[in-house]
Amino acid sequence: MTSLHQVAPNILVALDRRVPLVPNIGIISGTKAILVVDVGLGRENGKRVYQAALRIANGRRIYLTTTHFHPEHSFGASAFPRASLIMNAAQLDELQAKGPAYLELFRKIGPAAQSALVDTVPAETAVVYRHRHIIDLGGTVVELREVPAHTRGDQVIFVPESRVLFTGDLAETRFFPVLVDKDSNGSRWIDVLGQLIALRPAVIVPGHGEVTDRQLLDDVREMLIWMRAEVDRAVEKCLPTETMVAEIVAAARRRYPGWDNGQYLSYDVLSFRNDALAKNGESGSGPGSDNRK
Ligand SMILES: [Zn+2]
Repeated sequence: MTSLHQVAPNILVALDRRVPLVPNIGIISGTKAILVVDVGLGRENGKRVYQAALRIANGRRIYLTTTHFHPEHSFGASAFPRASLIMNAAQLDELQAKGPAYLELFRKIGPAAQSALVDTVPAETAVVYRHRHIIDLGGTVVELREVPAHTRGDQVIFVPESRVLFTGDLAETRFFPVLVDKDSNGSRWIDVLGQLIALRPAVIVPGHGEVTDRQLLDDVREMLIWMRAEVDRAVEKCLPTETMVAEIVAAARRRYPGWDNGQYLSYDVLSFRNDALAKNGESGSGPGSDNRK
């Protein structure tokens, strides 16, 4: 939390600087309370975020919420002893179902991730909601909305007064979206981005990458629609899976030069392929194991 970027008079963001396994972290302030959005990978990072939150809160109540259960967004939460952790029920279910396996998976990434995850345990959730939850921070109202697509329990955080939207990994600046496992769904993702565009946000704080405007939502939605059409065409032509993946991944890289997360594109193609086959009444093989994003 070295440098905080101001995106509205009462909203600060610690930028990820496109460092792997680091999310953008937000702090929204009202007169009575502050809300921290996402908390970093593991207890040590969580402690640093908590120290910054304590300084900024200066006696006000501290709430914490996470955009989805993935470790770099939520596993620092146990370092927030005096905060109230708020999440939707689907996110809590997914954290309980997959948290321990993800903890092991991330510890194997390397020494830095391993040390970040020392003493890390899923935090206790104080408030669990379904669909939509409003928090009044004192003068500033914040809406939490459950919008599953990248995971089972994604949520966005919207501040209507300044039209700032925290999207988590539903929109990342110059990163391909990641259809991570069987709980990710590309067509639902396209619908969700349409709902978010309808909110008419002015500022987008993405899960990763630079803070930007709502063009990002259009760009990511257009990319997913393009890929779905490419996959549908390939399935219609009965292209072998390997050829389909190779051709569409190469086309995506050409069409979106400079976008990162290219290593996950094959998962995206396979996920759309499984949807297309399911629509045609055939069963595809799964998009593979979790790919950790
Ligand atoms: Zn994620």
